Amino acid sequence: MQYFPFGTTGVSVSELGFGAIPIIRLSFAEAERTLRRACDLGITLFDTANAYHDSEEKIGRALAPVRDTIFLATKTMKRDAASAAEHIDLSLRRLNTDYIDLFQFHQVALEKDWEKIMAPGGAMEAVLEAQKAGKIRFIGITSHSLSMAKKYVESGLFVSIQFPFNFIETDAAKELHPLAREKGVAILAMKPFAGGAITDAALAFKYLRSHENLFPIPGYDSVESVEQIVAFYEKPNEVTGNDLAAMEAVRSELGGQFCRRCEYCQPCPQGVSITQGMIYPLLASRMSPEVASEFASAGMDTLPKCTECGACVKKCPYTLPIPSMLKKHYDLYLGHRKAKA
Ligand code: SF4
Ligand code: SF4
Repeated sequence: MQYFPFGTTGVSVSELGFGAIPIIRLSFAEAERTLRRACDLGITLFDTANAYHDSEEKIGRALAPVRDTIFLATKTMKRDAASAAEHIDLSLRRLNTDYIDLFQFHQVALEKDWEKIMAPGGAMEAVLEAQKAGKIRFIGITSHSLSMAKKYVESGLFVSIQFPFNFIETDAAKELHPLAREKGVAILAMKPFAGGAITDAALAFKYLRSHENLFPIPGYDSVESVEQIVAFYEKPNEVTGNDLAAMEAVRSELGGQFCRRCEYCQPCPQGVSITQGMIYPLLASRMSPEVASEFASAGMDTLPKCTECGACVKKCPYTLPIPSMLKKHYDLYLGHRKAKA
């Protein structure tokens, strides 16, 4: 494991981080084993959130004995000062610590949320206050919107930006990465497997490791999963021509119609399960059409309710042509159902 400076903080952290959503599924004992194994193998960067159910508590319980050796990041979705201040104190209690290394504003994809955070009485006031009081060392932000992410990097207010980064969603590499490097802002790379679209983990990490100033935070749900991913970091990174061709093949297979499952398009006024409909082809290829058409039937059967009102398209940060994709995926689903019958 190598350690690199985290933006301009003056603190070095492990190049590979720990994304703490999947530990929600584990018992406290299993989570502790998984988290401690990550520490033993050299991971020092841990990212969680107030919104991740009991993830903060599991981290607090498991990592208190090694608190001084790790870099703890968490986040809030609150946009006003009073609620953000409550979340900071709650995170401190749950994480079993008296300081948070990196406190982030969570999922700030819309201008109106950003304005609330920055307005008088907004969450930024509470975070700056907490920083003055020593409860927070550094401030970061997370987003799925490329234009907003670039704006945050330009603002000079944050030491890090957390953004989806993988070899399918390459806008981040083309536009956000050079800017972040220039400004000395670290990138926490979320969704390293593009939400499950990338099944070749070795290829995923070859791509990520070829970018400096990038700290992937894959999720782990077992000691074995930690060991498997850390193993990718045990030898020098080499991206061959064959690797690049393999990445390109996955990219072109998914095309420009890749749904990031960010859910910003929800809710649909007609009750359409948009995300389920959008990811159906991926599900069918991973599970088999037979299994997927059964598994996803409840959501897929809502698709004919779509009136093509376009409300979801306006909310999708990637401006995906949702209604036409849903139609196409519904036809595919019907074909699978017929084949099964
Ligand atoms: S276009 Fe269809 S899926 Fe999208 S919000 Fe309107 S009814 Fe719902
Ligand atoms: S359709 Fe767009 S907004 Fe909805 S989940 Fe997919 S990427 Fe996100």
